[in-house]
Order: sequence, then structure tokens, then C-alpha cells
Amino acid sequence: MLVVMRHGASQSEIDAVVAVIEEMGYEARPMPGAQRTAVGLVGNDGRVDASRIEALSGVAQVIHVTQPYKQVSREWRPENTVVKIAPGVSVGGNDVVVIAGPCSVESEDQIITAARLVRDAGATCLRGGAFKPRSSPYSFQGLGRRGLEFLALARQETGLAVVTEAMDEEGAELVAEYGDVIQIGARNMQNYSLLRFVGKLDKPVLLKRGLAATIGELLLSAEYVLAAGNPNVILCERGVRTFDTVTRNMLDLTAIPIVQGLSHLPIIADPSHGTGVRDKVIPMARAAVAAGAHGILVEVHPNPERALSDGAQSLYPEQFAQLVRELRSIAGAIGRRVAPAPEGSTAAARV
Ligand code: PEP
Ligand code: MN
Repeated sequence: MLVVMRHGASQSEIDAVVAVIEEMGYEARPMPGAQRTAVGLVGNDGRVDASRIEALSGVAQVIHVTQPYKQVSREWRPENTVVKIAPGVSVGGNDVVVIAGPCSVESEDQIITAARLVRDAGATCLRGGAFKPRSSPYSFQGLGRRGLEFLALARQETGLAVVTEAMDEEGAELVAEYGDVIQIGARNMQNYSLLRFVGKLDKPVLLKRGLAATIGELLLSAEYVLAAGNPNVILCERGVRTFDTVTRNMLDLTAIPIVQGLSHLPIIADPSHGTGVRDKVIPMARAAVAAGAHGILVEVHPNPERALSDGAQSLYPEQFAQLVRELRSIAGAIGRRVAPAPEGSTAAARV
């Protein structure tokens, strides 16, 4: 439930609302806004009797949030959330953020080479997994902490913000130390203890849709992170399983406008895992931007044939450079732009 205060309501009126909510056994979250303050009521499972609150002085309106997810809903917060991930780099505003890099960090040389080439082509953020959730325990599992150290070097070298996955609490702490965004992968979308844990960290979270998760379940998972105190969540559509085998997954582009209607959180698309097929990544990346995604996450490898994971869906460097040029035109056609190079990066310095 959301208690909207009158324009100009005094602090003591707001405090009185908070006190009543707490007295009723719930938690109050005052949210000062440009026009007026709202006080969110959390902790309820079901409808709350609002009569006591409605009668308080300074209260303009009580809104019952109808969705099972509360704090991520548009009813709770009508304006878009813009998640700041590094100086000059935000997701959720007018800019389309391009996050690119290999599936896995394989060596210092590989990630630095990849970082330079995606930066030169126009990416704003570098991706690369140091902790890899692989279907087989015998497949390459990632370099762990050493991989994070290489990512930090790549950031130092290029100025790109770093997005990288954490699979457990220990990994999340390390990613928070070395990276800029903690990615929660599709397989962990419903790992509620991990979601609660990253909800307590002071780092943006990129939450990928589960392999067979509904949009409602994705939003409820995001709710766990917000409920634990971290408002900086970026959602990611990365394809869902279907009966068809011609692609690895089916990228659900409808999820982009649907999520934007239901939630104020930014949503990006991952056409690499969403298709699993290199030649299909480019058209779906274009389509995702046209559909209004706040960004794209795309796998690019300096040498895809030698990739230790997901080579078949990794773009060649020249394909990626061409894609970014096309995305600039598509973004421009809908009144947006591809985010420029981050402040202080070597690419920005050259402009
Ligand atoms: C990844 O981004 O490398 C990854 C493993 O993605 P997902 O969790 O969507 O499968
Ligand atoms: Mn991958």
C-alpha cells in the first residue's frame, strides 16, 4: 500500500503516518518526491485496512497496490528508475546501454583484448563471467577470483564498467568488490537467499529471467532484492525454453513493453543467450532496441572459435562494430541514443 501525502505536507504529518503504519505492525518507507512525499507500507501479505491512515492529516490518497509485487510495480513508483552503475553510466533513462564482452573471462590477455575491441566499437560496459554456471560439471567453470582481477584490470585499461555474474553469497561479495554490477543468472533467478543477500549489498543488480520463468515471477524475484533494501535492479530478458530446437531459447521481446508497463525498473535484452545462434543475435539485438529495451547484453569474443564457452553465439569483433552502428540508427529513429563512452574512458578522451 502506498500513502500519498498532500503537496506541502509537514514532516510531523509524515512522521504521524509512519508511526501509525509501524503501530499496525508493518514497515514504513517514506519516499520524498519532486512533487510530494509518499509513504510505502511493506510487510503485508494481503489487503490492509487503510481507514486509520486515510483519516490522518496531510494524507491525500491511499493506493492499494494490486500486484503481488509491490515495490517494483508502477503503482508504487510511476516514474522510471534510472540505475547508476558507474560515473556517467546509467541504465533506465533515454540512453541505450551496450554491455558486451565474452561469455567467460579466460585469461588476462583475452579479456583486455576483448575490452579494448568492444570499447572501440562503442560499448559502455564490459561483460565476462568469472563464475560460470555450466550445465556440465566437466565444462570450464570460470577463473573465479583471478577472473575478477583480470576484469578489474580491463576496467582500469579501458574505463568500461564491469558486469559479471555471482552464483553464491561469497561470489557476490567478491563481485561487489571488483565489479560494477552483480549479475544474477537465469539459473539463480529464484535463488531467494542469494536475492536477499544481494539486496543488502550496495551494488546494482542485473537480474536475468529464468529459463522457464513467467514475467510475474521475474518481477517477484526483483521484489526480493528491493524488499531487502537495494533499489538498483536492472531486469534482463534472455529467452525462455520452448519446444523448438532451432534456437537455444526463444527471446521474448514482448517482455520488454510488458515489463515497462508493469514496473518502473529498467529492462535490457540478451539476444546472445536468447537465440544461441551467432547469426540470429544481430537481428534480435536490433529488434530489442526497436522494442524499447534500455540496453543490450551481447557476447563478443576476439576469437569465437577458441572460446571456452558459448563460442557459437559470440559475435566476431567486426560483426559487433557493425551492430553498434546499426543500433545507433535504430535508437535515433525512436528518439533515443546509444550511450556514449563512459567518462574518463580512453574512448571518451579520444572524442
Ligand atoms: C551469461 O550471461 O553468461 C549467462 C550464463 O547467462 P544466463 O544466466 O542468461 O544463462
Ligand atoms: Mn554465455
